[in-house]
Amino acid sequence: MKRGLVIKTTGSWFTVEDENGDIFECKVKGNFRIKGIKSTNPVAVGDRVIFTVQTDLKSASDLNTGWITSIEDRKNYIVRRSPNLSKQSHIIAANIDLAVLVVTVTSPVTTTTFIDRYLASAEAYRIPVLIVFNKTDLYNKDEQQKMAKLISMYSKIGYPCMHTSAKQQMGIEELKSQLKGKTNVINGHSGVGKSSLINLIQPGLNLKTSEISEMHKTGKHTTAFSAMYKLPSGGYIIDTPGIKGFGMLNMEAWEIGHYFPEIFKISKKCQYNNCSHTHEPGCAVKNAVEESEIAQSRYNSYLGLLEGDDKYRKPY
Ligand code: GDP
Ligand code: ZN
Repeated sequence: MKRGLVIKTTGSWFTVEDENGDIFECKVKGNFRIKGIKSTNPVAVGDRVIFTVQTDLKSASDLNTGWITSIEDRKNYIVRRSPNLSKQSHIIAANIDLAVLVVTVTSPVTTTTFIDRYLASAEAYRIPVLIVFNKTDLYNKDEQQKMAKLISMYSKIGYPCMHTSAKQQMGIEELKSQLKGKTNVINGHSGVGKSSLINLIQPGLNLKTSEISEMHKTGKHTTAFSAMYKLPSGGYIIDTPGIKGFGMLNMEAWEIGHYFPEIFKISKKCQYNNCSHTHEPGCAVKNAVEESEIAQSRYNSYLGLLEGDDKYRKPY
């Protein structure tokens, strides 16, 4: 029996790296599932597993193959609801230390609505987020000020922020040190510079991140494939082609406020326990918005999610 890390999945085969760095192609033995999780796949990239090595070698292809017999508890995992089986979900990746959200103030514009939806999902999944403002070389004075305001707002809530220019190779060393030793996912709109940044972090690592939106358009989902790649300074980047972000979780109205840390904190002072922070008298949240202690844009994002508008629910 060996312990290992699942570093690639293609559907029925799982590539497992053992503690010595040796690689084994494994299948799953039996029909085990982690309790309480209904998923189409039992094992995902990032899973720590126990496996046995095939010793009965009938052909050369049996060399370095094995059977996964159990998975260790996950500290977190991200899912994608299956388009056909709405109650089933597909586990995209497990045990993520950091979600890097790459955003741009211009070319393209990343809206606060998008950022806030992403942050709320990350809260729900219990994954820390680092917000990276890229393309700073393109920003004029106004845009620089806009970035400074956003950085100040998100840092105050507790989300670390930094800025980079892939073009001028600025901020790359800091980004590297943020990713060091961690299992990272990198998300953001198409065109914000994810591939360019990844290429500077590790030249030659040609991830498929930028092909994502194309695949959505053609309806060809390759969710079965995902892989994690080692960083030179230790740690990994998880590549999940076919997956644009986390996919919005189905949040109940009462939960949404929990995923906005600053709203949640202040909501304890609301007059009513089950305050929705929309119309109730004695609402500490609405008061804090008026006093600019909570940013109007954050409150708007909260209301957007609360309305359950379809456009807020679509996976992104
Ligand atoms: P992705 O879709 O998020 O992976 O974005 P890419 O890395 O493919 O970048 C999209 C476009 O923006 C490419 O033409 C890049 O050369 C350009 N780009 C990426 N980062 C920067 C940057 O920091 N500054 C400028 N001016 N252009 C950038
Ligand atoms: Zn309230």
